[in-house]
Amino acid sequence: MKLVFATGNIGKLREASEILGEGFELVSLAQVGITEDIPETGNTLMANSLQKAKYLYDKVGCNCFADDTGLEVDSLGGAPGVYTARYAGEGKDFNKNMDKVLYELSVVETEARMAKSMGLSVKPVSRRARFKSVITLIINGEPHIFEGTLEGEIGYEKSGNGGFGYDPIFIADEYPGMTLADITEEQKNAISHRGKALRAMAQWLKEQ
Ligand code: IMP
Repeated sequence: MKLVFATGNIGKLREASEILGEGFELVSLAQVGITEDIPETGNTLMANSLQKAKYLYDKVGCNCFADDTGLEVDSLGGAPGVYTARYAGEGKDFNKNMDKVLYELSVVETEARMAKSMGLSVKPVSRRARFKSVITLIINGEPHIFEGTLEGEIGYEKSGNGGFGYDPIFIADEYPGMTLADITEEQKNAISHRGKALRAMAQWLKEQ
């Protein structure tokens, strides 16, 4: 089965091909002649993934899928959430995005320490966070949604050379003391939000 994937990222295309396995031919946006940025104006990951998949389906008219991923930090009220890619501005600079998360968390922690020193009762600040991926697959014009989550914590500083995005500050529950940038690509793919969503989609497709 041929599926167009709404990505220009070769790494993502390769990961999805490996997870879907034989019987599926994945095609990138460039291969179907789409060079423009696909609009993402929704307020939720699901809305964005649906918007991207529908845009693609309207253009190519064949089976396709799109994903949208966000990082939710509990003590930041779920931010960066839907703004994950551009948390520190439209430049989508990963380092600035990570610095902003570390800074915002340090502010919350400082405020909690000050409140405590004034004798107020305050709960310890949680660094709990999760990545969420939502995939919309459009088969014969019908959308189907798949989700994957990776639970963990935000570290105090960046660590590791692997991965991308927020990996250097995210410590998955499965690998305590190591960030996603410290573990191998295989280790990350086996536990990742996107891996889980892709495997759920692959399972559903195989059952059809
Ligand atoms: P997208 O929806 O896949 O484009 O992801 C949105 C943003 O989330 C990216 O620009 C990255 O900053 C971040 N992101 C997505 N997946 C990961 C991941 O596996 N590790 C770290 N950051 C990620």
